[in-house]
Amino acid sequence: MDVVWFKRDLRTRDHVPLLSASLSGKSVICLFILEPQRLEQEDTDPIHLQWELDCATDLSETLKKSGAHLHFKVGDAVEILKEIDLSLGIDRLLSHEETGNSWSFERDKKVLDLCRNRGIKWIEFPNNGIIRRLPDRDIWKRERDKRMRQALSDAPVFTKSVPFEGAIPRLSDIGYFPRELKNRPEPGEDAAIRRLDAFLREYGKEYRWAISSPSLSVKHGSGLSPYFSSGSLSMRRAVQKTTSRIEWIRKSRAHVEDQEDWIKSLASFRRRLAWRCHFIQKMEMEPDLDLVAQNTAIDLNMDRVLDNERFTRWKDGGTGWPFLDACMRQLKSTGWINFRMRAMMMSASSYNLWLPWRDTGAYLARQFLDYEPGIHWSQVGMQSGTTGINTIRAYSMTKQGRDQDPDGDYIRKWVPELSMVPTKYIHEPWKMPDSLQDSISCNIGRDYPHPIVDEVESRKMGISRSYSARGGEEARRISKEVLKTHGSRRRPTRNSKKSRATSTQLKLF
Ligand SMILES: Cc1cc2nc3c(=O)[nH]c(=O)nc-3n(C[C@H](O)[C@H](O)[C@H](O)COP(=O)(O)OP(=O)(O)OC[C@H]3O[C@@H](n4cnc5c(N)ncnc54)[C@H](O)[C@@H]3O)c2cc1C
Repeated sequence: MDVVWFKRDLRTRDHVPLLSASLSGKSVICLFILEPQRLEQEDTDPIHLQWELDCATDLSETLKKSGAHLHFKVGDAVEILKEIDLSLGIDRLLSHEETGNSWSFERDKKVLDLCRNRGIKWIEFPNNGIIRRLPDRDIWKRERDKRMRQALSDAPVFTKSVPFEGAIPRLSDIGYFPRELKNRPEPGEDAAIRRLDAFLREYGKEYRWAISSPSLSVKHGSGLSPYFSSGSLSMRRAVQKTTSRIEWIRKSRAHVEDQEDWIKSLASFRRRLAWRCHFIQKMEMEPDLDLVAQNTAIDLNMDRVLDNERFTRWKDGGTGWPFLDACMRQLKSTGWINFRMRAMMMSASSYNLWLPWRDTGAYLARQFLDYEPGIHWSQVGMQSGTTGINTIRAYSMTKQGRDQDPDGDYIRKWVPELSMVPTKYIHEPWKMPDSLQDSISCNIGRDYPHPIVDEVESRKMGISRSYSARGGEEARRISKEVLKTHGSRRRPTRNSKKSRATSTQLKLF
């Protein structure tokens, strides 16, 4: 018998393990395991498991149309696979390669031991654009692009599927009650494909300029990240559909309004799809990226401190910096925020508040519905300055607020204490005269906090300490290694001289 083990690949299309099982002529069990142990990990939240469970529930309906049945189990993967083997006998265990956090890496090692001991053939198929056992980072792009060109496939048909007679589990059965997220996307494969289509045809034209804004990005960003994380959509499908759409727009000059805007936006989106694979590849090559900084010497030299008051106020959106507070609250309420604001959150915690990246990174991971360990921990490393190979990106919250929310409407929406503050003061409410504070019943220090620390001074100090931490032979030696293993292999462009010059300098955003 074949077992197809669905992990974070909850779809029927472009699913090679499923296709392989459908062609084998053997009986098949499609398996989804709800693993409560995951919830003991610092980076995992019930919202993640609920999302996967909902996508798996949708998958079970889609599978039924193909003649297959999804078996839901709760518990430890090794024990569950052992039980199935004892009762039904597994010939082949089929799954995608998973690039997850340290915990899933260790779990997969135990599953491999089980398979070896019990004579089960575990076949792991390549996933997205991640190359396992990549011998050399220089060939990564070529190999990934080759993968992206492979043919798409539809849901396969099954004739010998073992029926599932149990009930679909609920998180409450194991004592967890996920927080409710506002505007959570509709789960499942069809919903993911509809969203991709709508982005490519209706709301993606403004993508390029809209994604830096926390409110406009909700409308014009793809919003696909939760679907990629649950694997409801394959990367190959997203890349190929985007390419076809760009080509179609190019050819049909006369029919598409704002053709150049569409092409530039979709090309920019396609580049980000490649970033996804690029970042996850880092974790594939260094599975403990969630535990150990890429440059351990810099991390040690920084010696950041977990100050509880600072940490709590940053988490709760109570720092006294209105734009950052609004972003932290949007994230908590909806489970999503755009790239630039994620980077700003890390910059504030790392440079202004000097908090350790593991604690702040784990908190953000638990807030993101789209939590993807490979992207997340690579970005956390970059934005906290602990890779040694990236420019120090220290964001000014006040500047970001003025750029992205000039009239303050976004702040007023998420920080209602400030709803009466005039636009002149919305980004720096502590500068309001006392009489104004009284007249609008918004006293800084009572109704909304004073800034937790001076923004400009604390940023300067954070940057200066970060540069000091980069000094020293050991830090530089490790940085060189990190660059060799993980650095982007972008081909030199006309601007490369300029970008080389700025890459070693400080960037203020
Ligand atoms: C500190 C930090 C943590 C992050 N953690 C995650 C995470 O856990 N999961 C996650 O999916 N993204 C993460 N990102 C990257 C990025 O913010 C999200 O991918 C993006 O906001 C998702 O929204 P979208 O699907 O509308 O993106 P779009 O802009 O529409 O992009 C399409 C897809 O491209 C990929 N992508 C976009 N930007 C990036 C990027 N900078 N790096 C890698 N891939 C990218 C994502 O898969 C995304 O779904 C993080 C960024 C930062 C700064």
